[in-house]
Amino acid sequence: MTLSYDPPSVSNADNPKKTLYKPQITLPGTDCPLRADAPLASLTSFRVGGPAEWYVAPRRLEDLQASFEWAKSQGLPLTLLGAGSNLLVSDRGLPGLVICTRHLRQTQFDPDTGTVTAGAGEPIARLAWQAAERGWQGLEWAVGIPGTVGGAVVMNAGAHKSCTADILVNVQTLSPEGIIEQLTPVDLGFSYRTSSLQGSQRLLTQATFKLKPGAQPKQVVSDTTKHLEERRRCQPYHLPSCGSVFRNPESHAAAWLIEQIGLKGYKIGGAQVAERHANFILNCGGAKASDIFQIIRHVQMQVEHHWSLCLEPEVRILGEFPSV
Ligand SMILES: Cc1cc2nc3c(=O)[nH]c(=O)nc-3n(C[C@H](O)[C@H](O)[C@H](O)COP(=O)(O)OP(=O)(O)OC[C@H]3O[C@@H](n4cnc5c(N)ncnc54)[C@H](O)[C@@H]3O)c2cc1C
Repeated sequence: MTLSYDPPSVSNADNPKKTLYKPQITLPGTDCPLRADAPLASLTSFRVGGPAEWYVAPRRLEDLQASFEWAKSQGLPLTLLGAGSNLLVSDRGLPGLVICTRHLRQTQFDPDTGTVTAGAGEPIARLAWQAAERGWQGLEWAVGIPGTVGGAVVMNAGAHKSCTADILVNVQTLSPEGIIEQLTPVDLGFSYRTSSLQGSQRLLTQATFKLKPGAQPKQVVSDTTKHLEERRRCQPYHLPSCGSVFRNPESHAAAWLIEQIGLKGYKIGGAQVAERHANFILNCGGAKASDIFQIIRHVQMQVEHHWSLCLEPEVRILGEFPSV
């Protein structure tokens, strides 16, 4: 590990004469910064949660491999992070190393095959606009999803009756042992808002999608815009959230079940069940992760009590939470 020291940057509150030095650490064999105690709230769409014990956001495959190696050498648990738009991170933060894909962003459109290959950290909405502006159809539905390509595949994100699995050709993954593999949709075991990569330690580095080139760009841009407008009309995009908190049970939409038992507007601390869409929990300002967690548990208990149905969270809950 390379260690260098900045000039004194933090003073010790208990003993002002004693000066603390802030270490600037890079991953061994790379120039990739490795940050200790890195705040995660600003890296999640809920805008809550404590720090990562260690955090790295590699730009290259070699740096991803070095990240896995370093975590293994230190015996640290791993968490993989995309845009953080489907995560509830504990106020206590996360132990171990958080590897974020936000800088893995190359995109390549191949007109011969009608495919686009994008890095794991490419925002799926930006990819949808790029496709639309070329007159390529197939990603219009994804424009309102604030996640990355990697997160969209892992969660099998979807909207407007389409989902990621419908257009996926293959993905490249990197295992903690440093093995690079190409996997097909069959390997990924897709079902409603999930895949076999969920909860695994394999990092998706890039994905290839099959689209339909050859339409009028103006038409595809217009269709894409309509999807976005429709979502903005029905869903509360004005405050931090994770989108839909619960998976829809087969019988009814989770939002309907929650609304019918009068939980719209239900509040704990700075968090609230949205008035516009009962399957959204909003951070109305100053919410803690524990406020959101308590609302999730309350909604689950009430739905179970009234409907004898178990609502399963779609949001990934990470770290320790006090039992409610
Ligand atoms: C306002 C709003 C609207 C939303 N609307 C929708 C919607 O319409 N449809 C929908 O399906 N979702 C929706 N979501 C939820 C969310 O945007 C999607 O689930 C999205 O696909 C998550 O992507 P992400 O990059 O943010 O993943 P993250 O939240 O960072 O991570 C989600 C999971 O994927 C894993 N992961 C992320 N990247 C990788 C990678 N490269 N390799 C391996 N594992 C990885 C993480 O470990 C975690 O388990 C919405 C969220 C918000 C805030």
